Amino acid sequence: MKKGTLKIAIGGFIHETNTFSPIPTTMADFMNDGECPGILRGEEVIHRLNGGNESVAGFLSSLYKLQPDWLPMATLWAGAAPSAAVPRSVFEQILEELVTRIKDAMPLDGVYLDLHGAMFSEGYPDAEGEILYRVRQLVGPDVAIVASLDPHANVSPQMVEYSDGLIAYRTYPHVDVAETGSRAFQFLEHMLLTGSKPSKSLRQADFLIPAVFQPTSIAPNDKILEHMLALESNVLSISYCPCFPASDFPHCRPAVLAYADDQEAASCAADTLAELVQRHEGDFVGRLYQPGEAVAEALRIAADESRPVIIADVQDNPGAGGSSDTTGMLRTLIAAKCNDAAIGLLFDPAAAAAAHQAGEGAEIRLALGGKSGVEGDTPLEGNFIVEKISDGAVFATGPIFCGVDVALGLMACLRIGGVRVVVSSNRVQMLDTSFFRAAGIAPEQQNILVVKSTAHFRADFAPLAADILLAAAPGAMPADPTGLPWRNLAPGIRTRPLGPPFHPIASIT
Ligand SMILES: [Zn+2]
Repeated sequence: MKKGTLKIAIGGFIHETNTFSPIPTTMADFMNDGECPGILRGEEVIHRLNGGNESVAGFLSSLYKLQPDWLPMATLWAGAAPSAAVPRSVFEQILEELVTRIKDAMPLDGVYLDLHGAMFSEGYPDAEGEILYRVRQLVGPDVAIVASLDPHANVSPQMVEYSDGLIAYRTYPHVDVAETGSRAFQFLEHMLLTGSKPSKSLRQADFLIPAVFQPTSIAPNDKILEHMLALESNVLSISYCPCFPASDFPHCRPAVLAYADDQEAASCAADTLAELVQRHEGDFVGRLYQPGEAVAEALRIAADESRPVIIADVQDNPGAGGSSDTTGMLRTLIAAKCNDAAIGLLFDPAAAAAAHQAGEGAEIRLALGGKSGVEGDTPLEGNFIVEKISDGAVFATGPIFCGVDVALGLMACLRIGGVRVVVSSNRVQMLDTSFFRAAGIAPEQQNILVVKSTAHFRADFAPLAADILLAAAPGAMPADPTGLPWRNLAPGIRTRPLGPPFHPIASIT
């Protein structure tokens, strides 16, 4: 048992890697202030992340409340929006600085890391496994290491081995990120106050679940969540990670992770939940519309509704490594001559700059979007009226951001016929209604809203929607993972629920 002023290092290294994404990841993506606040060092970590729906905020608020004498030692926090593999040099540079700063804070009683769990670096496919390994090597076996994870984590045995506790958010959309940080603190506190090392149990499922069918508001995820909460009364912590199904490595698969003071309780809880997930394999399904079908159905529903119909452009989600500039849904809205329809966020810094140069009220000719090389997608040429321009500094108030400043970069509302396009200069997922409002669009007054998001949009948009339709227009995050060119999954993994098993192609010698 530990007493007195305990020292806890706090750090973070966040990236959700879509190994199939056409969007490269660079050091600048970690350094720029956009959806993530750039690289934070020392006290900056606490100042920038202490508030809003952030794991570090939840962790700190519990520490201050429950153990006001304990000393948080802020080290380094780095995060970038989802994109392709993190170059080895970028990964090494950030990790080395994180480890050095943790070293400088020693001696320590505990380490808390804010991780995602689906980072893939060239040379380190299991990036979080490597992070936790290096931190464990540094601090030794007796210092508690606890991390929070996104449920889109692809949890590896190495991650479990080199940490004492991995605690995942429970919800998707992730409205409980800060709460997860608080749970992580309480887990660490239990370890330090009792002097115990919890027993662990990891179970992995053998099929991939499309992200679009993972939201916790829909079946069977709602039931799985309910069951998990009931099981938690028997253990210290239980987490379910339905996986990030666009990461080409063997631990890309759903996982259940339980911790308890004795091994039997941890194993029993993990087995029970893993069996439940496996039993529901055939239930992770839903209707996916082709773009034309989605717009026709939305128009049919909207005719009798005062509230907008939401169409999710699920395959072009920048929050999953999508380019956020594909034009498939926009073309379909224009072809159907929709009125009072809006789409966003379409990433096109050149178009936003052209709109700013021309000014509000001007008509400009653009080849809009379609510049990222996504298969089946091209720029959309047309004349657009510049309805509004803005610097893109938005205060996001929905249930995910919970009141933080988000930089969308120079932005514009462009109108073509009855369709408005919200163009941004940073790639940010449309998960907050304030992004439409910043472009002068009242979302509740539209007939149709197209959002470039897979599921997070539900948190802020579902309450104002007459209905939600999921559409599969061209994009870098296929709704059906079977369509991806897998090479390194574990043999036998079904690439969608009840789908065909993956077989590695034997190399020709
Ligand atoms: Zn996630």
